[in-house]
Amino acid sequence: MTATGSLIRNYIGGELVAPGEGATLLDNINPATGKVYSQLVDASEQDLQAAVAAAEDALPGWRAMDITARARHLEKVAELIERDLDKFAAAECEDNGKPLSLARAVDIPRAVDNFRFFARAITQFASESHAMGESAINYTLRSPLGIVGCISPWNLPLYLFTWKIAPALAAGNCVIAKPSEVTPKTAAMLAETCIEAGLPAGVLNILHGRGNTIGSAIVAHPKIKAISFTGGTATGARIAAEAAPQFKKLSLELGGKNPTLVFADCDWEKTLDGVMRSAFANQGQICLCGSRIYVEQSIYADFKAALLQRIAKLRIGDPLTEVDQGALVSEAHMHKVLNAVGTARAEGGQILCGGRQRQVGGRCDDGFFVEPTLIEGLPIGCKTNQQEIFGPVATIQPFESEEEAVQLANGTSYGLATSIWSENLSRSHRIAGRLDFGIVWINCWLQRDLRTPFGGVKNSGVGREGGWEALRFFTEPKNVCIDYG
Ligand code: NDP
Repeated sequence: MTATGSLIRNYIGGELVAPGEGATLLDNINPATGKVYSQLVDASEQDLQAAVAAAEDALPGWRAMDITARARHLEKVAELIERDLDKFAAAECEDNGKPLSLARAVDIPRAVDNFRFFARAITQFASESHAMGESAINYTLRSPLGIVGCISPWNLPLYLFTWKIAPALAAGNCVIAKPSEVTPKTAAMLAETCIEAGLPAGVLNILHGRGNTIGSAIVAHPKIKAISFTGGTATGARIAAEAAPQFKKLSLELGGKNPTLVFADCDWEKTLDGVMRSAFANQGQICLCGSRIYVEQSIYADFKAALLQRIAKLRIGDPLTEVDQGALVSEAHMHKVLNAVGTARAEGGQILCGGRQRQVGGRCDDGFFVEPTLIEGLPIGCKTNQQEIFGPVATIQPFESEEEAVQLANGTSYGLATSIWSENLSRSHRIAGRLDFGIVWINCWLQRDLRTPFGGVKNSGVGREGGWEALRFFTEPKNVCIDYG
């Protein structure tokens, strides 16, 4: 595949479109070096109109296409991303600051899986029929919605972008998609891949630029029938308000403040591994990260000491090298995370480790690195334990009883994911039923099966992605009733 070059362009009607007269260009910064390394077009209202027109033209052919032919198109995209895995991983690392090894092992393989999974899922997707004795029968027709919008964040750029686009396309919709302006590069490479794969023009259109301009325009466009959004809770609330007057279908995957419950009877090593990963993977910038660690009182001191030893061994540095933690996504986000640590201090929290920017040196002298941070001694009601920080920062606190653990876990306005670490499976199942979260992991974290419903409750979102849930979201059910007469 060709290099994307230094200017990231919109993908409209099957082509990469040169910026129009007077177009605004935004800088794209490598967070590990702090340097601008490319620019992207800030898509305009006219770009959106062109993308919608292209999608309208493509829609009749795409929705009428035989399902196996549609699935073959998605398989082909998966195959080409897989062929170019190393180039995609390098781009994700440069754009986001995450370790190259992580992009290679997780982000890009998952983008491949997303296309492959939904290419196969659509060939198995079926709907119900309801017989009314011997007098009549109903069946459910599931039709594509038409043109849909997919808007994704910067933390797992290609992974989350394709998690929306693949089911939308598989179900027969045409898509207007917008990646985060902070991490546009792999989305731009996906456009090139779709051109090479021969995806029909206009089926997928990718617009780059700012959320509060082009993102908001996508949400408001009357011809876009549904919005699948992943991002912050405040943005989700804004999108819900904008979309409500048009009664658009919405899937909102929002923030989290996820608890990790460690019981005294846990498998010690496995739990330490899991808690470390859940707190600090991807620099803590995963909506599912466990940022509130609750440990049963009888093992609290030992567990905390073991955790601190592990944290001290984390390698932080140039994401192109063998490290556990790279840079945070932007300078603004780094300051937001450091300010949150300041708030924790002001609230009386004890910073057990970290809490500062890390100078990495070399080519990363001006990069946005933050030390992994563990904070103790804060009550559940404080800002630090209530607000999402979205960085390598976790709090730790003891609990006395199962009842207290459940209360602490449920004690925020979020409800995305939680993990329970205990060898007592009866208790784990009992607690799982009482936890107000969309996802409960027992003795694991981020173990994903793409068939399962994915999403949160409370302020963590509305709707579910994954498997049949995603295909149901991207289709409209119609009841057809036949009387036998
Ligand atoms: P934002 O909400 O800031 O942005 C997400 C996307 O929405 C970006 O593409 C952004 O564009 C765009 N956007 C911003 N404003 C608007 C608007 N008014 N209308 C339409 N689109 C808009 O989130 P972040 O990118 O900062 O991502 C971090 C957040 O995402 C965290 O809260 C995290 O918890 C959440 N998240 C949730 C997940 C889940 O599955 N529940 C998974 C991963 C992350 P731009 O970047 O250009 O501003």
